[in-house]
Amino acid sequence: MAERRLLPAMLNAPDPDTLCVHAPDPPAGFGSLTPPVHRASTVVFPDLDAFAARGARLYDGYAYGLYGTPTSRGLEDHLARLEGAARALVLPSGLAALAVATLACTAAGDRVLLPASFYGPGRAMAQTLLARFGVEVSIYDPKADAAIAGLLDTQTRLVWVESPGSATFEVQDVPLVARLAHARGALVAADNTWATPLGFAPLAHGVDISMQSLSKYAGGHSDLLMGSLAVRDAALFRRLKDTARLLGHGVSGDDCFLVSRGLATLPLRLARSAETALRLIDHVAGRPEIVKLLHPSRPAHPGHATFVRDFRGGAGLFGLVLRSDLAPLLAQAVAGMKLFRLGASWGGAHSLIAPSDPRAGRTDLGWLPPGPYLRLAVGLESFDDLAADLDRMFGALGARGSDAA
Ligand SMILES: *Cc1c(COP(=O)(O)O)cnc(C)c1O
Repeated sequence: MAERRLLPAMLNAPDPDTLCVHAPDPPAGFGSLTPPVHRASTVVFPDLDAFAARGARLYDGYAYGLYGTPTSRGLEDHLARLEGAARALVLPSGLAALAVATLACTAAGDRVLLPASFYGPGRAMAQTLLARFGVEVSIYDPKADAAIAGLLDTQTRLVWVESPGSATFEVQDVPLVARLAHARGALVAADNTWATPLGFAPLAHGVDISMQSLSKYAGGHSDLLMGSLAVRDAALFRRLKDTARLLGHGVSGDDCFLVSRGLATLPLRLARSAETALRLIDHVAGRPEIVKLLHPSRPAHPGHATFVRDFRGGAGLFGLVLRSDLAPLLAQAVAGMKLFRLGASWGGAHSLIAPSDPRAGRTDLGWLPPGPYLRLAVGLESFDDLAADLDRMFGALGARGSDAA
């Protein structure tokens, strides 16, 4: 059996200070089912030649902790497999992934197209930060599909899709948008956070860059922030990686470990969240307080046919519009809920409710009836308990609503 090295061989009279610094080498031949967590800024090299050539290791090997560790590269390989991609890249948040993809594909004078349903902070990033650097940002109606051809010009370098939109759930014809964009020489990027690669495979539907916020379902426990980009093309991967590293984006090994751990149960959690959400939608569908329910798995949803054509599964995030006259009662009704907590994110074990106004800053929502808008993120609690919690909210709205009438 190999002798365990307690200290670098040249030290034979260890000082306690030195002993503190030099931990024993890990045992050779250790195997486990879980990824090791590497935390590192400095990467060390065996000799001068290897040190001098470290720049060549940016994309595949190890040059500096910021540019990748075995933990982050392991997660990237895992994500690439899930996405059907050649390469994936992890970033400090979903928003960082949106920004890096957009920055990597545009320069001053170029145009980027965003659906009006695009993630709000991502839209703000493009319209404020990128606009300052001369990138033109055009917003298009996510229901436009074929009409996007009229917006594409030779300046357009990148078209984003988000399907379904995570605020208002429009389903886009992604293969059609991709064909039209490619015909004009533009790349297509998809924010696939809602469906995850399990529900929709962007790269198999013509998309060039598949993005997801890992803070949602992949992380799955509301305790980390990370995003990813996945691509088929090695040159595009290098462009994304260069942009990320020049911006100084890196991720911690601990967070990568948590995402790796989350991926193991992602199929079960996602299926359960989606199934409970659909049961809850059926449970509340007839309520007189509701004027519209938004989830693409419902046959009544305008994007349902495209959804069934392109998606393998859905998620547990949905929207509903309440009767306008109930607006004054909403705060108290929500305050009475016991399981749905007020919060903006989703994809975790806990159910959340987020009253919001998706109409702000949008001109494409003529189809959305007036009235308070609620987005519900269904977690992993029991259906019966969540249904009782929604009944509690609607009870408060209904009772006071009929008083007011
Ligand atoms: C949450 C979210 C993001 C941003 O992800 P973070 O990890 O929170 O930065 C981007 N797109 C969609 C659709 C999201 O829901």
